[in-house]
Amino acid sequence: MLFFLISIIPLFLLISKSLPLKALPLWASEVRLLSILFWQEFLYFLVYSVKNTRLISSWVIEISIKMSSKRKCASRVQNVEESMEMSVLDLPDLALECILGKLSPSGLCNMACVCSSLRDLCRDDYLWGRHMREKWGRVIGQSVKREWEWFLASRKESSGACVERQSAKKPKRWIRSLSHVWPLSWIKMRLVEGGNRVRSPLPNNSIMSWYLSLESGKFWFPAQVYNREHGHVGFMLSCYDAELSYDCRTDTFQARYPPHGRRTVVIEDGVQWDRIRAPPVDTPAHDLHISDCLHDLRPGNHIEIQWRRNKEFPYGWWYGIVGHMEPCDGSEHFCHCHLNDTIALEFNQYTPGSRWRRTLINRQDHREEGNESDGFYGGIRKLYTKDEISTWKKLWPVEVLE
Ligand SMILES: [Zn+2]
Repeated sequence: MLFFLISIIPLFLLISKSLPLKALPLWASEVRLLSILFWQEFLYFLVYSVKNTRLISSWVIEISIKMSSKRKCASRVQNVEESMEMSVLDLPDLALECILGKLSPSGLCNMACVCSSLRDLCRDDYLWGRHMREKWGRVIGQSVKREWEWFLASRKESSGACVERQSAKKPKRWIRSLSHVWPLSWIKMRLVEGGNRVRSPLPNNSIMSWYLSLESGKFWFPAQVYNREHGHVGFMLSCYDAELSYDCRTDTFQARYPPHGRRTVVIEDGVQWDRIRAPPVDTPAHDLHISDCLHDLRPGNHIEIQWRRNKEFPYGWWYGIVGHMEPCDGSEHFCHCHLNDTIALEFNQYTPGSRWRRTLINRQDHREEGNESDGFYGGIRKLYTKDEISTWKKLWPVEVLE
């Protein structure tokens, strides 16, 4: 319609001006035609401008609507994100400790990889102390802690050099390239975490480090093994010192027994948990244990006594029972064996008549007693707990020993 008017108006003006009968000069009509063309162009320009203005304004309005809707969406997303930002770290300390306390060792290790805050929390000695007691408490003694400290001291230099080498490494080129195309926050987070790992290695003196070294089998720890060398007949119902390394794949141990006189180191694989214990006393295998129970011993008591084949060998602990002295028949009303200076020790796993079945020791002044033929009997410890006694009974040989 607008275009129609624009086209009609100049024509109408031309006709109306051409109506006078008086003839005008030629140049005058040309000037009039030019002016008409000017106005036509001007009207076109005006309309075009108005039209463009409308387009632009509608475009601007559309954009502003879109932007406002985006702002609304963004604010909505932001609200959702704000509500999602509630992380486990926002929990009260006690609740967080309870959650972490429920995690297994592998769960704690995984959780420690999430961020630096959780890493520090998951390395806490309190958490790992519980796992240590639950899994290793029965076989870990005081001597293990000393051994662990020596182990740390021995590898301190090498691990220090290793950390320095890691720190000296520059970020890999492909990571730098990726940072141009991947979300910067993600890359930055990874780089920062990677950097933290280098800057904050697991402290060697932490219980977590100790636990993981035991699990990995890298740390050989001192303990004692019942019925060594797969229940060899020569060691039945005894318990010997050994160094042990855990194999997590089979959930068993490798035992390394110290040299036995001329015998070199003996290694035994596949040692089960129920054949291992922490050393009950802090006496090295080559030292005589000072007995503190000699005056308390009476028939029927369960004991362990040190014994070794000759003086070059380490002692092992052997299970036995206090018996009656002759001519006591064991009658409860007539027995005075507990008043005798001599104590009879019986090793009933051996057949009657065997030279290993019975021995006598002096209650008043017991030191190491014996000879090259029968071996040497050392210190005695009385067994007070049912657990210790039942452990020995479970290991009782199927057949009587000669
Ligand atoms: Zn008696």
